[in-house]
Parts: sequence; C-alpha cells; structure tokens
Amino acid sequence: MDVKKTKAYFDSQEFQEKYHCDVPLGSFCAPEVTKFRLWAPTAQEVTLRLYRAGTGGEPYALLPLCRRGMGLWSCAPEENLDGVYYDYLVTVDGETRATADPYARACGLNGERSMVIDLRRTDPEGWAEDVAPDLSPETVIYEVHVKDFSWHPASGVKPEWRGKFLALTQEGTTLNGDGVHPTGLDYLKDLGITHVQLMPVYDYGSVDEAGDPGQFNWGYDPVNYNVPEGSYSTDPADGAVRIRELKQAVQALHRKGLRVIMDVVYNHTYHLDSWLWRTVPWYYVRQEADGRPSNGSGCGCDLASERSMCARYILESVLYWAEEYHIDGFRFDLMGLLDVPLLNHIRQELDQHFGRGEKLMLGEPWSAGGTAARPGTVLAHKGNLGQLDERIGTFCDATRDAVKGSLSSEGAAGFVNGGGLDAQKLACCVKGWTGSGMRAPSQTITYLSAHDDWTLWDKLVYTGDSQRRFTQPQPELLRQNRLAAAINFTCQGRPFLLSGEEFGRTKKGVKNTYNAPLDINQLDWTLAWENRALAEYYKGLIALRMRLPGLRDKSSRAAGRVLSVSIPADNCAIIELDNAGGDCPWGRLLLAYSAHWETVYLTLPEGEWEVLADANSSYGWRDPVRVWGSAALEPVSALILGRREP
Ligand code: CA
Repeated sequence: MDVKKTKAYFDSQEFQEKYHCDVPLGSFCAPEVTKFRLWAPTAQEVTLRLYRAGTGGEPYALLPLCRRGMGLWSCAPEENLDGVYYDYLVTVDGETRATADPYARACGLNGERSMVIDLRRTDPEGWAEDVAPDLSPETVIYEVHVKDFSWHPASGVKPEWRGKFLALTQEGTTLNGDGVHPTGLDYLKDLGITHVQLMPVYDYGSVDEAGDPGQFNWGYDPVNYNVPEGSYSTDPADGAVRIRELKQAVQALHRKGLRVIMDVVYNHTYHLDSWLWRTVPWYYVRQEADGRPSNGSGCGCDLASERSMCARYILESVLYWAEEYHIDGFRFDLMGLLDVPLLNHIRQELDQHFGRGEKLMLGEPWSAGGTAARPGTVLAHKGNLGQLDERIGTFCDATRDAVKGSLSSEGAAGFVNGGGLDAQKLACCVKGWTGSGMRAPSQTITYLSAHDDWTLWDKLVYTGDSQRRFTQPQPELLRQNRLAAAINFTCQGRPFLLSGEEFGRTKKGVKNTYNAPLDINQLDWTLAWENRALAEYYKGLIALRMRLPGLRDKSSRAAGRVLSVSIPADNCAIIELDNAGGDCPWGRLLLAYSAHWETVYLTLPEGEWEVLADANSSYGWRDPVRVWGSAALEPVSALILGRREP
C-alpha cells in the first residue's frame, strides 16, 4: 500500500467500523488460565513468546495467537502465568517484528519484555483503605522529579532510597539528619501545598535501568505507558517491585495529606519504532502526505489521538492509573497535540468513575510545531480553548511572561524585574485571563516556573545581576522574587510552582536541563534552609490564599470581582477586589504591586484596612495591623490589604 492510501484507510470511517474493538486488551491471569489479547488488524500472524526472565535467554514456549475479528488476536493457555515475561512476533505485510505488549501493565528490565502480573500481589499493606485526602479550599500544585527531589546527600533520605520512589515514603527526614530542619515529605507538608505533580513516572527509555545510578533524565520519552519507570525502583529487574514501590509513594503522600498528579506524555513515543508502531505500523502515528512521520512534538512521532483505537488507548491508560495507582490528577504534556473531543471525553469519564471534581486535569495548550492530524481534528491548543471543558486547566504563559519576562532571551524582563508596567495586562493576570481567552479561572494554571526553561531565580539573575552570581543570595533579587510570588498567589486560577522555586532554586543559568547532570538538577536542601525567609514568604502566601474566596473563585463570574485598577505611581498598580463569600472577614481586598525602587505612599479608599501581607511578611493576616487614609508601599514589593465589610 502506498502512504496516501494507508493514511486515508486508517483515517476512514470504514476502518473504524470494521476494526474498532472494545474487548479488554493486554494479559490477564487467573488461577487456571491466562488470557493474552492483542489488537493487530493488519497482521497476518501473531506468536506469543514466553520467558523465565525479563532479559536474556531463549523463550521457553511459543504459542500462536488466533485471529478473532475486529482486529483482535488472542490465546488462553490453561495455567496461571503470573510473573512470566513475554513478547510477541507480529507479521505485517510479510515482515515480522518482535514487540513487547503495548497494553502491558508490568515489564522487565528496561521495559524490553512485558510481564504477566497478578496486580493484587503488588498492593502495599493497607492499599485497599488508601484514599486521597479531602480537597482543600484551593489547589496548589508543586512539581517534583522523583530523582532530583531526594538525590542530594543533605536531603537526609537514607542512601539506598535517594532518587527512588521510596524516598517519597520516608518520614522524619531532616537536613543532613540534624533533627531540626525538615526535608522531603515533611517539608512538603509544612509548605502547605496540596498536590505533588510527579514528572514522568511511567516507564521511559532514556535512562538505562541497569546502568549508573547517577544518570538523569526528565523522562519525556515513553516506552511502556502503563508501567512505572524501573530506575526509580529498588529492583528494576523484578516487574512487581516498581509497581509496589510507586503505590507505596502514592500511599505515603496521601497519608501526609497530599494528592498526586502524574505527568503524562501521550503526544509521542520515545522512538517511532515503538511497541504501538510494531504492532500496527503507522496506525498510531500521524503521517505527512509524503510519508514522513509528523513532528509537532519535536520528537518525530506524534500519536494520532483522533483515531479511535489510539483514543481508546489514551483514555484507558488514564483511567488505569487513576484506578490502580490512585492517581488524583493528570498533566498532559504538549496537550496541543491531542484532540479536544478526546480530552473532554477523559474529563467526563474521570468524573463518572471517581466523582466530579475528584480528579484534576491540566496541560500545556501548545505544541512544539505543526502536526499532521486528520483534517477537521480540533486540537487542544490555545486557539480552541473555547471548546475544551472548562475544568481542564492550561498553563498560562501569558502571566508567567508578564511577571518575569519572556523566555525568548535571557534579558527579556517582566513587571517585577524592570520590564515596565502594563496595568491592563496585570489586571488580566489577576483575572486568570477570563474574558481574554479563558472562560473561567478553572482553565488557568498560574505559574512563574516549571521544569522547562530557567528557574525563576536564574531568570532574575539574568535580568538583574550582570555578574551572574546564580548561587549567591542578593537582596534586590530576593525582593523581586517575593513580589513575583505575591502576584502569582493573588491571581485567580490554580497556582503552580516548580519544586524549590520557593527557596530560590538555581540550575546555574542552564535553560534546558532535561539530561543535564544531577549536580545541576538536584534539589539542594541546604539552600532550602539558607533561603528559609523566602520559603516562609511563599508559605504565608499559600496559607493566606486558602482564606480568600475572591481569589479562589473558579467560576466564570470571578472576573467581575475585579472592581478597579489604578496606577498611583510609575511602575505601581492597585487592584481592588470583591472578596465576599464563605466565612472570610475581609469582604474587600486591595492588591498593590510595586516594581518602583522607592517607597510609594498610597491613598486608601475609605474605611479601616488590615495589612494581610507586605514586603516583609506574608503572615500579617494572623494578627493584622490596621491602617487608614494612607499606606506605605515599600520598594519592589506587594501589599495586600483587607477591609471588613458589614
Ligand atoms: Ca525505563
């Protein structure tokens, strides 16, 4: 078949009607039988190979699969094959390829072979009783990489668990084990965040699971979508261990009162030559008219989410992680490459299975380039957010860039670091861009830094310190950092931060650290305590936000709470906000932001105002100082005032 014909055939209604299959796929063991089911509509022959180990050695048995209709192939040996490793030989157009099972739920070392698994034996003790903690008044998302979180020796994590899932289960860790300064899990709890977002924890390919433990990669290179990554486990060669240990991590986070979001990369596979591709060549991958694989991901193999069996694959994968691993939310990498109907469908199914509002969805509303989706496909990029469910959040680069400057160049500055004031833009940030691209703040993820690009601190060093002293605390930059944080936590939308942003995390000015050494990527727990004043400021802002209904409001009416925007001096803006609701005493808020290097004296609206946060403390709300008539807004700082309403 030529390219055009194959592409048109896979895109056709005819193909979908003939081959769309709803039978459960993968391998399933029971006491007296194990079922193997693979969807391979274009195959002429499929053979199952069974192995005693995840790598090496010859298969101890070869079994033919039978074609069943709807493209399904299956066999059912009459024995319990729990713990047996396997792969398939799939023959398409006369060419035979070996492939692991794309629907596998367990695998061996480096994911090369799949494994039959009785999942109940992977459940840690107490797993059946594991439930997510109650939802907080606000969601605050904290992005963590499993390895960089606990790699640093000062983390106090036991050496054999550093960089592993199990580090997330260790309570009572302190800085260098000093017994005084919490790190790890206890530190997270103390900070007041509500959701830990784990960077990819499915099985990815860029780290050799049998290699040097000091290898590092972010992990945006999926190999087995439905299996945890082996290098984060204490024994990657035993397929059950990685599953149990990730569950232990989720359980420990839940016990600590934290929910867990998983970063999912359904837009591309590590290589074009993936298990999906080897099973049904070209079906799961978008193709240009000339036959080249589509490259909107920058990785050369965009998945065709608009095709029904690919959509089924993605939907079932999400539901599986939510059900089996108790995952509480999903962050879709390059969501702009996936289609809107699929994402809305996932939203509905998560609500239906787990209850409305229980599982979060968020994603990047962009892609790395154009993609060759079937004509008419509505992709989930910024231009189509009007059609995306309001309860799917999207990363807001507009606020990020307005506050700290764009990522186009090191020197590009935003409001806090000398880029000047655009008061209307700042008001849009506070409204979560509702009315300017967004329908409600529930669609907006507000952030200043994520794993991509410079950390907030490094960006401030580039714009504010010609000597580029990334590792040195600098008072002026710390002021800018506090102001930036105050803006981030007073915008409607859902706040998000990169782990360590709150203590001035540096990657020494390196922008893209996806495979940089651990000495650049690791969280430096020493800095977490050296810069404790900054972290305390974040902590106070998080706690304050929990108490302010005007900022938490996710409804489409929230923007109407912004009552006025004024400019009392150069580089200085005041936003007045209706904060009525709940049992909050302050019915009215004044948010004053100044990037001015001198103190500005504000004339206040009538009444008595209470200082909830200022340049020095974000804990004013606990025992508020009262002001009326006027108030001093210190250089490069935020001032948050509240007025009690009758
Ligand atoms: Ca792996």
